[in-house]
Amino acid sequence: MRTIVVGGGVVGVTTAYYLFKEGHEVVVVDKASKVGAEATAVNAGLIAPGHCFAWASPAAPKMLVKSLFGEKTSIRVKPTLNPRFLWWGLQFMRECTTERAAINTLAKMHLCDYSQTKLDEIALAEGIDYQGVDKGLLYLYRDAAELELGMGKMKLLTDNGQKLEQLDMKGLAAVDPAFGNATVQLAGAIHAPNDGSGNSELFTRKLTELLISKGVEFKLGVTAKSFVADGDRITGLQTDQGLMTADNYVLAMGVWSPKLSRTVGQDLPVYPAKGFSMTFDIKDKSKAPELGGVDEKTLVAWSPMGDQLRMSSTAQFSGFDRSHKPEDFAAIRSTAKELWPDAADWDGGSMTAGLRPMTPDGPPIIGKGKKHKNLFYNTGHGHMGWTMASGSSAAIVDIIAGRTPEIEMDPFVVRTYRK
Ligand SMILES: Cc1cc2nc3c(=O)[nH]c(=O)nc-3n(C[C@H](O)[C@H](O)[C@H](O)COP(=O)(O)OP(=O)(O)OC[C@H]3O[C@@H](n4cnc5c(N)ncnc54)[C@H](O)[C@@H]3O)c2cc1C
Repeated sequence: MRTIVVGGGVVGVTTAYYLFKEGHEVVVVDKASKVGAEATAVNAGLIAPGHCFAWASPAAPKMLVKSLFGEKTSIRVKPTLNPRFLWWGLQFMRECTTERAAINTLAKMHLCDYSQTKLDEIALAEGIDYQGVDKGLLYLYRDAAELELGMGKMKLLTDNGQKLEQLDMKGLAAVDPAFGNATVQLAGAIHAPNDGSGNSELFTRKLTELLISKGVEFKLGVTAKSFVADGDRITGLQTDQGLMTADNYVLAMGVWSPKLSRTVGQDLPVYPAKGFSMTFDIKDKSKAPELGGVDEKTLVAWSPMGDQLRMSSTAQFSGFDRSHKPEDFAAIRSTAKELWPDAADWDGGSMTAGLRPMTPDGPPIIGKGKKHKNLFYNTGHGHMGWTMASGSSAAIVDIIAGRTPEIEMDPFVVRTYRK
């Protein structure tokens, strides 16, 4: 059985891994000259069931309106009449009820939990060191009232099995001493002891090296242009370097997935949310954070990655534009300076931006195409794709193999909009 995976980010490469384990002849196609070159390369590194809240929530519409009036909110919208964004935005608004937000969050949480187990299994079985840190994550609060509110919000997760504990400043310093040097008032944190962090680009690269050594083919620098269909089957993938054929096709192109799926009549509600990302060399490890986390005031996220610290911020709906200006990184630099003043040269660091493949409701799209029997989808993982990749890929390969996945798949059905 020959299967082409289109997209060589963390989602495509983990899909290729499970297909290979299933005995398929696998070909991965990616337009970039290396795997994991897009969102996979820039993310904050959090492996975080405790951070799985759907963005579409009762609080979101107010934030979006404020952003339209120029406020620097954590989710921002660049005013546009782009019909695709307007359609996506309408669907997002529809999901902003308490009930829908809870349903979407719990669907993501179950996938995150499952995926974490799968990631651990791959890393252990294949001996992949991806700069993983498994001491948990910290959700940091500067204000005691906000910390209480944060614990209240987390009740949805704790009621459904997540382990989360409230830490005062003494407790925080015991879990991660780096916060003892902060120059701002902190109230404490919520510690998610089962969350973790790691370098998804490194993981993707090492898994690719392993797969290549086993005979999996990676066609890099090849751009997929369209699928070719005959009735209810896909008969080929048209690329800038000719037609490629296989028995099955898996679409895992992150934010670019709808462009390819539309060539065979399947629209997908995936729209890019730009985020800014910096990587700093740590100059004094004793003063740098040992655990990853999120500052719940500035919504800056961070993860230690070996001798470096990755930090990311902001969700900006501005289409496929990945450009950035130095001022886009101000929140990252100021958060770092306030939390760990002497750990690194916070005026240095590398700057980049990436695109999160967001669905309006939050759950990714994982399943068999409705129109074509041999076209499968693994895309739309939004702000949690590193966390959800291994589980999503195990599930899609179960579906390809005709098995029932180990988790409930209804929330991830292939859809143009949620009915
Ligand atoms: C700033 C930021 C912070 C984030 N933080 C976290 C985090 O802390 N934790 C977490 O779990 N997730 C996080 N994410 C989300 C996560 O990075 C993504 O959900 C995940 O990387 C998506 O993986 P992917 O493989 O689907 O997409 P991508 O990594 O974007 O890969 C898509 C691939 O498709 C290829 N491609 C595109 N078009 C074509 C074409 N025409 N032909 C061939 N190939 C093509 C691209 O070259 C690319 O390699 C973050 C994302 C961003 C941007």
